[in-house]
Amino acid sequence: MLSRLLAPGADWEVLVIGGGATGLGTAVDAAARGYRTALVEGEDFAKGSSSRSTKLIHGGVRYLQQGHLPLVFEALHERALLLRNAPHLVRELSFVVPRYDWWEGPYYGLGLKLYDLLARGGLGASHLLSREETLNRLPTLEPKGLRGGISYQDAQFDDARLALTLARTAADLGGVVVNHLPVTGLIKEGDRIQGVRVREAETGAEHEVRARGVVNATGVFADGVRRMDDPGSDHLLAPSQGVHLVLDRRFQPGESALLVPQTDDGRVLFAVPWHDRVIVGTTDTPVEGPSLEPRPQAQEVEFLLAHARRYLIYDPGPGDVLACFAGLRPLVGHDSAKTAALSRDHTILVSPSCLVTVAGGKWTTYRRMAADTVDQVIQVAGLEKRPSTTAELPLHGPDTAGLAAVAAERPGWDEPLHLNLPYRVCDVVWAARHEMARTVEDVLARRTRALLLDARASAEIAPAVAALLAAELGRDEAWQQAQVAEYQELARGYRL
Ligand SMILES: Cc1cc2nc3c(=O)[nH]c(=O)nc-3n(C[C@H](O)[C@H](O)[C@H](O)COP(=O)(O)OP(=O)(O)OC[C@H]3O[C@@H](n4cnc5c(N)ncnc54)[C@H](O)[C@@H]3O)c2cc1C
Repeated sequence: MLSRLLAPGADWEVLVIGGGATGLGTAVDAAARGYRTALVEGEDFAKGSSSRSTKLIHGGVRYLQQGHLPLVFEALHERALLLRNAPHLVRELSFVVPRYDWWEGPYYGLGLKLYDLLARGGLGASHLLSREETLNRLPTLEPKGLRGGISYQDAQFDDARLALTLARTAADLGGVVVNHLPVTGLIKEGDRIQGVRVREAETGAEHEVRARGVVNATGVFADGVRRMDDPGSDHLLAPSQGVHLVLDRRFQPGESALLVPQTDDGRVLFAVPWHDRVIVGTTDTPVEGPSLEPRPQAQEVEFLLAHARRYLIYDPGPGDVLACFAGLRPLVGHDSAKTAALSRDHTILVSPSCLVTVAGGKWTTYRRMAADTVDQVIQVAGLEKRPSTTAELPLHGPDTAGLAAVAAERPGWDEPLHLNLPYRVCDVVWAARHEMARTVEDVLARRTRALLLDARASAEIAPAVAALLAAELGRDEAWQQAQVAEYQELARGYRL
């Protein structure tokens, strides 16, 4: 990928900075339209917000409460497309809203009927549940004062895996995607951007990559790239932190997710089954600036534990938390949004030098954001006009056969890596060979989700993963030791 990116004479039409949902989606959209497309990610695909979400593909019950009906409508449309185009990664999920007060039935029941209407009948219709039906669906829900519930349908996914799938889809379409290659500066001729400067994280080597259109899709880091363009540019992003706790499934068995429609701070809270765990989240805490590894604050953890204890019969304590992770929402501040070239819940800005910045939105609507962004690039870079095709584009399929072949290659490669984790030795080898995993963290945090499923167990297998990666990537003993130390330090931050 790197040599293709840097090939002499490579004449990129679209160059995307940032390999999260937005950037990868933009690369897929541009490559699918037939433009010569490249993407550079400074760390790893989905290292930022895109691996730290609640993992829901949804219209957003919260947006519904706030009356943002067009947004909900658009997101529900995208939900239907994702269920069709990535059925191996996105699945339908039942949600239950418990009713403890008399007014909750009519109020939330009507709201969810509207949700059904906006989804135009896509998934099953919402309906009221009796007390018994509610407890059948959520056996550990607090029964004291429970009148019943409301059931509705939504969808769930694995965020980092979808990101990887987008990277592979872009590559299938002839695009080039490179991770561990941060952009350190922009190349300008006159007032116009002509490309970017990059530095290989592994070797320190620096290069220039020229392109006709450059997209800044760096999420909460977008202001930093905007300042590379114009040191005086104003703040666009106002990041807000969200924290999730991961618990054992015994705290919430059953196949349904729980939605608490009104927390103490007036938000919605989810407890969602995911990879045989339960994810509880989230919070909403404004933070000063962007960070690659945001840290959960003590009061956020306490807030989540307190709500889990209120709604579940087994009271989780800090010792029950298998992992705790924080992510930053790339929210766009209002003043800047006014000058947006195009605004839904995402914003696209074109700077005088023709840098196209896309920010905001959510995972669910990445495809729509991407299509809007490429439309802008076509205009500013003067590319031949071609329509977006991604609404009909199936994403890169599951790798079952290839993985089975790797598992059969050597004795022991079909074996589990850890009793508490659903991963095998061949998953690591596969990630190195076919998914551009370069570090132990790439494998344990995003190719597999070991870090989120059990941070402690993931740290225990770091040495084995480092040895497997070293064999695949031709690394030495010192590299392995450094990788293990670095990963174990990271994993400590995901434990309470
Ligand atoms: C707590 C939380 C819960 C959420 N839950 C949901 C949900 O359930 N459903 C939903 O639809 N959405 C959800 N979202 C929103 C969704 O996760 C984000 O909107 C989305 O992931 C943003 O993607 P992005 O690509 O814009 O940013 P990011 O994923 O942050 O990607 C930006 C990338 O740019 C890279 N980068 C930065 N600087 C440079 C540089 N100089 N050179 C190269 N690369 C660089 C970073 O390393 C990063 O990988 C949630 C968000 C949060 C925080």
